[in-house]
Amino acid sequence: MSKKLSEFDLIDKIKTMFPTPQNMIGIGDDCAIIPQASGFDTLVSTDLLIEGVHFLRQDIQPTLLGWKAAAVNLSDIAAMGGKPIGTFLSVALPSDCSQEWIDQFLEGYHDISSCYNVSLLGGDTTRSLNTICINVGVVGTVPHGKALQRNTAQVGDLICVTGPLGDAAAGLKIILSQLPRLDHESALVLRHYHPMPRIEEGITLAATPGVHAMMDISDGIASDLRHIVKASQVGADVDVERLPFSNELLSVCQKYNWDRVQLALEGGEDYELLFTMDPQCHPAVQYHTIGQITDSNTIQWIGGNRTYEGFSHF
Ligand code: ADP
Ligand code: MG
Repeated sequence: MSKKLSEFDLIDKIKTMFPTPQNMIGIGDDCAIIPQASGFDTLVSTDLLIEGVHFLRQDIQPTLLGWKAAAVNLSDIAAMGGKPIGTFLSVALPSDCSQEWIDQFLEGYHDISSCYNVSLLGGDTTRSLNTICINVGVVGTVPHGKALQRNTAQVGDLICVTGPLGDAAAGLKIILSQLPRLDHESALVLRHYHPMPRIEEGITLAATPGVHAMMDISDGIASDLRHIVKASQVGADVDVERLPFSNELLSVCQKYNWDRVQLALEGGEDYELLFTMDPQCHPAVQYHTIGQITDSNTIQWIGGNRTYEGFSHF
């Protein structure tokens, strides 16, 4: 952290920038206090972002990192069908991290907090030796027993996604290959840096009878669907021909001769929702059906020319 701004100055600044709602206790005491409505379950999740592992300081604009740090957590609440209430932001900052960097990071964090009407209720602030480390925690709420889990897919369910796949992976490829950013390329880069957690869609899906299992797409469905299949002890047939693609992705794949199926299945960070439901079910969200749950205990990629694996950190 720069010398100009002490730990307590920074906390004061954050406290002013993120006022606590009337009915809660947020930044300033030893714990946040969040009132609980009866008949609801609490959802909690955290995510860690390490410079050099999850982002490159010289590469990502701090406003976008602030957005994304909160976005990936809000997406975990969306994945259960919950409504986010508050987040917790812990930062470890090295001395060469400029005040401007911190301000911009907080600005991005503030943007998404306003956009999704979620309060920053606490965190921790400390010095780090070399790298920026960010941990975001999130608390959400869902009607009792209604959270959608991964282990409840049923044989015969349709497999669906809430939006196009592969955009974020293509965006990352454009960034890493330093390709010129024309209209379509810029849109894909934005899908990588500025994901939109599907909160409204998740809430609607959790309230729709017949929707059985759900998760968010963070590692690519080749990997994510495997989690549902394994947890539910079922199998899946995915119809590769039915994967939804954006026009931007199709045009960029054609231009650079990229494999759109591979980007869709193995590229991560789309942060769309992946869910399974009874074929009679018609939830009031936009979705694309891409396959069906089977009793085969394996995933078949029908129309694909090989087997696919998702992204893994290890
Ligand atoms: P403690 O020593 O009890 O951990 P701190 O001095 O670390 O307290 O923090 C004081 C208050 O400021 C706490 O309410 C804490 O949640 C909040 N806080 C500290 N750092 C952050 C941060 N980066 N973002 C939001 N709130 C923070
Ligand atoms: Mg502390």
